Amino acid sequence: MRLSGITPSGHAQLGNHLGAIARWAADGAPEDLYFVSDLHAMTTTHNPAGLRGRAGELLAVLIASGIPAERVFVQSDLARELGALTWVLECTCSYGEAARMIQFKEKAGGQHGVRLSLLTYPVLMAADILLQGADEVPVGQDQSQHVELARALARRFNSTYGEVFTIPEPVLPVTGARVRDLADPTRKMSKSTRDSAGVVFVLDEPTLIRRKIRRAVTDAQPAPAYDPETRPGVSNLLEILGACTGTTPQEVAAEYTSYGALKEAVAAAVIETLRPVREHTLALLSDPAELDRVRKAGAVRAAERGEHRVNAALRLIGAG
Ligand code: ATP
Ligand code: MG
Repeated sequence: MRLSGITPSGHAQLGNHLGAIARWAADGAPEDLYFVSDLHAMTTTHNPAGLRGRAGELLAVLIASGIPAERVFVQSDLARELGALTWVLECTCSYGEAARMIQFKEKAGGQHGVRLSLLTYPVLMAADILLQGADEVPVGQDQSQHVELARALARRFNSTYGEVFTIPEPVLPVTGARVRDLADPTRKMSKSTRDSAGVVFVLDEPTLIRRKIRRAVTDAQPAPAYDPETRPGVSNLLEILGACTGTTPQEVAAEYTSYGALKEAVAAAVIETLRPVREHTLALLSDPAELDRVRKAGAVRAAERGEHRVNAALRLIGAG
């Protein structure tokens, strides 16, 4: 069983859709789980109302993208189970192990008032994984050290107190296209980027999507061609068009001799790709009572799945 989370650190963007969410919807197995990791968005300064809004919106986007509602949940709806398990795992983890995490060193380095949760969130991540008994965790390079920590904690708990946890394996994520920022194609498109000029959000209106794509940075060569190394801007547009139309960037490149025509085609394809997701998301958000019902059902299922593991872990470690 695979478990994947997405943090509401911003609004879902085209790269999240093409690279992750659409793949989850298409390739996921019936027992897989997807969650909105809102508790992980509190390790640095955050706005409570903004976070709550983005978490609900992201849940709606996941469902609207075709992930069955029974396979999604919001992490904070399991705050009690996860809080208890995080404590058990913190009592299984050494300070040195947590402080060694590269992400912590990178993000905390030299800053004042660093939240303790920035140090301990990998333990919460271990709790996310171990609570559900996930045996496969798709993660990128930047998070693989955290899955190693989850493995180490699961092994240590099992051998010290008794067998409770499945040992998770990091697996290569199923990925689609890697989308770059339209305004700065040297970096990837990200939902938490402050300047959103080069970021197409899943819920952007069609006119805004078209404007952002028309303004995408290309280069001074006479015609489009696919060469990601030397021509990242135009290659990004070709990759996006290929991903949206189910073909390759090389094939797409052969069809366009002008940047204007290419950009119009990319805009049309992105708008059509996102249209059903946007419409379905807005419909879900316009019926908060129904979305809340779906959300609660997902939370109950996910909590029930993991309940016996928290209870067993607490009992074995000497609590209750
Ligand atoms: P943040 O800025 O908070 O890191 P993000 O947009 O990079 O946000 P993540 O939450 O880090 O998104 O990643 C969620 C999923 O989306 C991951 O599976 C990641 O690989 C995928 N993803 C993120 N950005 C892109 C992108 N530009 N192209 C393709 N896939 C992406
Ligand atoms: Mg990211």
